[in-house]
Amino acid sequence: MTLHAELHRHLGGSVVPRILWRYFRRHNDDLAEKFPQYADFEAFYTKPRNTLDEYLELHTMVEHVQTAETLPYFICRLMRGAYTFENLAYLELRYTPYLRTPEHLSQSERIEAMAMVVEIVGKASQLNEYPIVTSQILCMHSRLPYEVNKAIVDLAAQMPQYVCAVDLAGGDAHYRDRLDEFVGLYKYARSKGLKTTGHVYETADGCYPELLPYLMRIGHGIQIPLKYPELLSELASQKQCLEVCPTTYIKTGTLDDIRELKVVFERCFEAGVDIAICTDNAGLHNVRLPFEYENLLTLDIIDFRQLQACQRAAFRHAFAWPYSEPPAEMLTELLKPEPLSIGS
Ligand SMILES: [Zn+2]
Repeated sequence: MTLHAELHRHLGGSVVPRILWRYFRRHNDDLAEKFPQYADFEAFYTKPRNTLDEYLELHTMVEHVQTAETLPYFICRLMRGAYTFENLAYLELRYTPYLRTPEHLSQSERIEAMAMVVEIVGKASQLNEYPIVTSQILCMHSRLPYEVNKAIVDLAAQMPQYVCAVDLAGGDAHYRDRLDEFVGLYKYARSKGLKTTGHVYETADGCYPELLPYLMRIGHGIQIPLKYPELLSELASQKQCLEVCPTTYIKTGTLDDIRELKVVFERCFEAGVDIAICTDNAGLHNVRLPFEYENLLTLDIIDFRQLQACQRAAFRHAFAWPYSEPPAEMLTELLKPEPLSIGS
């Protein structure tokens, strides 16, 4: 039986449209008035955007409803769906904790409030009924000041029971003017023993070789095999893994056709660079992880052997998977039929 590891999922984009619409209706939100019919809301919420920036604006809409009070509600539904419909055994959930704190507070008060958010997310995602190994990745954000991003790194280091790594998000075109600052923050994170990933080489405007040495995994990174394949051998020798989220590139206008990913997989396999297939924003896309795999197979972007290699790579590169092998290996012995004894 295949059980999946999901390495790249945003808390903001993880709410499926029906749950969000019902929430808006119950709370008489403006959006419920704008979209009295569910189908219209779903069409608005999941439609492709022209650019990554436009797409990221949708996160803002969800962030403002994900408060300390409502997070347990949304996370319970996320875990329930992930367990029941996605066969997840492992989930790393990522978000920027600062953006879940009350906006009316001062910056230092909001920094102070971040630890509570991490604890709420941590407790809400550990449910006995839906046993999935979970951990959090805290995202630094390109639109937040240095002090806040540094506090996010510090918090990640202080809460290893809930947090396994740090990330950098907010649109990869926006790092350039502050590149030294982000390099410094990643160096600082590594000095604290933190694991690292980062949204880079997602779009053609987000290619920063300066950041690569500090990343253990690369969030997206598809522009490396597409435009800079000469970097792949270094990635292979550093055992860096790409977190490829196929549906995203269509929703953000980064690729016109998902088949353009065929060369991404081909070049990475050839160079020995691992790929973990992820959803990024399963709710916003209304596409669950098993379908991401199946879709790549159906469209002949990967073959079955490559699909299995990606599934195994996801567990190998998981920052907080506590076992030496994927769960399928552990279950296989249990589920194998008993050999029939002669004469029975
Ligand atoms: Zn992402």
